[in-house]
Amino acid sequence: MSKKLYIKTYGCQMNVYDSVRMADCLAPLGYQSSDTPEDADLVILNTCHIREKAEDKVYSDLGRIRAEKQRKAANGEKMLIAVGGCVGQAEGAEIIKRAPYVDMVLGPQSYHQLPEMVTRAIRDGGGVVELDFPTVQKFDLLPEASSSQGVSAFLSVQEGCDKFCSFCVVPYTRGAEYSRPMAAIEKEARQMVAQGTMEITLLGQNVNAYHGEDEQANVSSLSDVIARLAKIDGLERIRYTTSHPRDMSDDLIAIHGSEPKLMPFLHLPVQSGSDNVLKRMNRKHNAEFYLDIIARLRKSRTDIAFSSDFIVGFPGESDKDFEDTMKLVEQVQYAQAYSFKYSPRPGTPAATDDQQVPEEVKDERLQRLQALIRHQQTVFNKSTVGKMMTALLDRDGKHEGQLLGKTPYMQSVHVQGNEGSRGQLTEVRITEGFMNSVSGEITGTQPHLRKAN
Ligand code: SF4
Repeated sequence: MSKKLYIKTYGCQMNVYDSVRMADCLAPLGYQSSDTPEDADLVILNTCHIREKAEDKVYSDLGRIRAEKQRKAANGEKMLIAVGGCVGQAEGAEIIKRAPYVDMVLGPQSYHQLPEMVTRAIRDGGGVVELDFPTVQKFDLLPEASSSQGVSAFLSVQEGCDKFCSFCVVPYTRGAEYSRPMAAIEKEARQMVAQGTMEITLLGQNVNAYHGEDEQANVSSLSDVIARLAKIDGLERIRYTTSHPRDMSDDLIAIHGSEPKLMPFLHLPVQSGSDNVLKRMNRKHNAEFYLDIIARLRKSRTDIAFSSDFIVGFPGESDKDFEDTMKLVEQVQYAQAYSFKYSPRPGTPAATDDQQVPEEVKDERLQRLQALIRHQQTVFNKSTVGKMMTALLDRDGKHEGQLLGKTPYMQSVHVQGNEGSRGQLTEVRITEGFMNSVSGEITGTQPHLRKAN
């Protein structure tokens, strides 16, 4: 009998991918995805633990779902509630203590066990917790992908992280680095392309640390994965995220210049421009190292553009340190960037650092940094006016006949389009640049892949 499954996804692209795979795991039990929690038989919150706000959101959402569960119970109907993802892993059974109406808690490495957990929760009336880091990787136990993610899809190739940046919970919630075998990645990519996907973003908490094995048990790198997937007919665009500057290897820098299907846009978090703060963050590199990587990538692919992540107000960050961050942003000239105030995460070394920065100082620095980033984004978007480029148009815009998509530079582009252009790689001329997007006009020609320089 078909049952309704509602999954709410918080946080990163990896959680988006995991939610798709969770639905694949539960489909054989008759669960079909529903867009709202109302009337759902099973609600899963696939959570993020990266910032305090993210955790608070989980509990306030749980409160709302509880009311829905009580309403169903009053009608003699049952609803199961599960908390997964990084808050699930970090908090575990504490969640059930705090919210006893939650039936299951699981970590990111345990969702392949969902079918069995649901059976136990129904039999035992809840209280099911699965947080182990399995010896047999979940990927080996996941069913084949049954649902398409559409023309643009995420594909997890690496998980976990061994870097232990002093502010980050990922090594504790996602575990040690694990790289999937090349053959499994290629198989899943071919399935996706057969289901209509034209663009794949390769995912990993530290994706460029990829070191999976090929069929001959040779250790491969991320550039090997890119080169292999680029041979798949019908796969037109390849991207990867999230990378660490220390793992930008020579071969990965080189393939940006030689593989036309690899998009000329890279998200390369640096977090701070100050050597003092980078040291306190345990990032294992200094600002000069980062700027050298940027320069080498620009030499390899002259039209490449960058985005990054920044944390302001990290413990011990002085005015001078913050000015170093502003200087680095000026030097790189980003197309986009994300910036946040430092948020102490329980269990991370920096959370107990005695040089915490006052909130008002964090606010002032964040405003200055975001003003600079907004300026750079606008400058970058305006610099593409008049250029011809391809856009993968996959959504409706808010205006009649308007289509939305992404350029190779991850710019949101809106065009007046026709049904025929939907889900297509379409050549557009950029007509206007704004802070967060560009507009374009369809030139009507089918795109051909630009020759990399
Ligand atoms: S490299 Fe990224 S995921 Fe790994 S510990 Fe540092 S911030 Fe976290």
